[in-house]
Amino acid sequence: MRIAIVNIGSIVSGDLDQPRVAGDTIVTEDDRIVSVGTAPASAVEACDVVIDADRTTAIPGLIDSHVHITFGDFTPRQQTIGYLESYVHGGVTTAISASEVHVPGRPRDADGVKALAVAAHKCFQHYRPGGMRVHAGSVILEPTLNGNDLGEIAKQGVWLAKAGFGAFATAYDYAPLVAAARAHGMITTVHTGGASIPGSGAITGDHLLALRPHVSFHVNGGPTAMPDRDFERIIVESDVALQICTAGNLRTALLCAALAERHRAFERVLIATDTPTGSGVMPLGMLYTIAHLASLGGVAPERAIAAATGSNARVYRLDTGVLAAGKKADIVLIDAPEGGTQDTALAAIRNGDIAAVGAVIAGGAPRFVGRSRNTPATTRQARVVRSRVTQDFAAPAH
Ligand SMILES: [Zn+2]
Repeated sequence: MRIAIVNIGSIVSGDLDQPRVAGDTIVTEDDRIVSVGTAPASAVEACDVVIDADRTTAIPGLIDSHVHITFGDFTPRQQTIGYLESYVHGGVTTAISASEVHVPGRPRDADGVKALAVAAHKCFQHYRPGGMRVHAGSVILEPTLNGNDLGEIAKQGVWLAKAGFGAFATAYDYAPLVAAARAHGMITTVHTGGASIPGSGAITGDHLLALRPHVSFHVNGGPTAMPDRDFERIIVESDVALQICTAGNLRTALLCAALAERHRAFERVLIATDTPTGSGVMPLGMLYTIAHLASLGGVAPERAIAAATGSNARVYRLDTGVLAAGKKADIVLIDAPEGGTQDTALAAIRNGDIAAVGAVIAGGAPRFVGRSRNTPATTRQARVVRSRVTQDFAAPAH
């Protein structure tokens, strides 16, 4: 399918170094972006679907890098089905599993731990809930595993490893497995802050500096924060990515973002939700945290959007999250919410409002155009002005 989005008001790239792109048109073909900015009339004419953005703002599809994936579109923690499809209506086109820790009765023996990660990874390779791409299968590091086990599942495609829920005496004991996971090419992640479920202990700055993962999961607390003094140490003394989560401590989220800006390390700030958890299902969580950083933390809206898109993609080595030719065709149109005080999406975000989502293109297909069922309505009205395909864009596709 070829799609043209025309009459875009402004284009936010998702790239922190160059957050705005001039022009008003984006063209995609199959699952890739062909051009961003301008396109010849012939290229637009050749498209199967033409969407008039009505001067709304184009951003990359949001990447939630901390979602409690299990199997299918179901969260056992909140007994809710269809939550991932609901997140698409919050502009999320990619979810990354925070490990399948919520699977009821999850195994702790080596064979069971490995099987769980491999099965989750493979189940989501061909299943896109609501059009969302889900990267699942994050192996839970347990004392029953060794380096060879990690090599075995890496061969099966597992590329995410999570420390923090294993039955270790102290968090320092994760170090050999985190190093082994890294050696097998995995992205390593470590729970940060107070215990989130009974049986897991607090993980603070000393532990993170000893373990050196790629990502500090919910650096602002999941939901309980580590000591304030540890934030600057992690920023200055390591290159660990700083994942700020909606379902965490808001004060330390703002503290971490401010320290990262001061130390010119904002490219390491990632936005995620850490949901569904005890905090619930939060389809607009990404948009909330973007608005919190911009309105309370003084972060420029396009930089906050980059933390939720391109920066997540860079750290997790994903081929999406940036509006540029060749990247995956994951595009969201946002706008000032109807009835608000602001005129554009970015001004609304700076004002602390939740941006209204007007269209989501995920994996090169429009999932809906016109109205998200979860955000307020947009001020302007993106709409399909021509379609040669038999698809109803008003309803979410499965
Ligand atoms: Zn979590």
